[in-house]
Amino acid sequence: MILLGPPGAGKGTQAAILSQTLKIPHISTGDIFRANIKSGTELGVIAKRYIDEGKLVPDDITIGIVEDRLKSDDCINGFIMDGFPRTIPQAEMFDQMLDKHQKAVELVVNIQVPDEAIIKRMSGRRMCACGRTYHVENNPPQKEGLCDTCGGTLYIRDDDREETVIERLKTYHQQTSPLVAYYEAKKLVLNVDGMKPIDETTKEILTAIEKK
Ligand code: ADP
Ligand code: ADP
Ligand code: ZN
Repeated sequence: MILLGPPGAGKGTQAAILSQTLKIPHISTGDIFRANIKSGTELGVIAKRYIDEGKLVPDDITIGIVEDRLKSDDCINGFIMDGFPRTIPQAEMFDQMLDKHQKAVELVVNIQVPDEAIIKRMSGRRMCACGRTYHVENNPPQKEGLCDTCGGTLYIRDDDREETVIERLKTYHQQTSPLVAYYEAKKLVLNVDGMKPIDETTKEILTAIEKK
């Protein structure tokens, strides 16, 4: 399954819940880049330059890390891609990658949220290094500033400031939104309204999976 949508649509939030429910891994290219930035790897240093400007990390680098991640044993029974693919070349490479293993994309969930709502959402977003995401008003943790799952200290992402969010939205409309048509041509798209409460969106997605 692929989760598609603009920055702040709720991809990470849904992916974390679905991963627990369906017992398949949540793979977020953004999380992989952030972990590399934190530990100071060469990949992290390169990725940071793009991420801080609201631009996409180049396709060859991004495809490489996904290819590596999919080699893990935990991916055998499926996985949830959060934030990948984000360009047409990435989607084409991903199809080829899966095809080599006699696999294919089964469902693409397109989470729709208007641009105006996104800027507001991002300013309240709080992240945990374990992959969970919170919002100070919409989805607060039980204890302020701490993760419900792992107790980790929540942080604000550097790229969630307003100027960068505006750049990321531009990048989304130019490079990522064409993927909706790409997957619609393959009849794989489930459109969901990302403005609904979190648990309603989760239910809609689970119902669509049951039907498959
Ligand atoms: P969000 O879901 O809020 O848009 P992510 O955590 O998915 O943010 O991504 C953060 C940043 O990491 C992106 O703005 C981009 O710079 C980079 N990134 C993540 N996934 C990809 C990808 N598939 N291709 C290129 N860059 C990516
Ligand atoms: P993405 O991974 O698409 O960038 P996130 O899952 O990180 O998006 O969500 C962005 C912010 O919006 C977070 O602070 C999250 O808690 C909040 N959020 C997610 N889904 C909803 C929703 N349905 N309604 C309101 N806020 C939401
Ligand atoms: Zn955590």
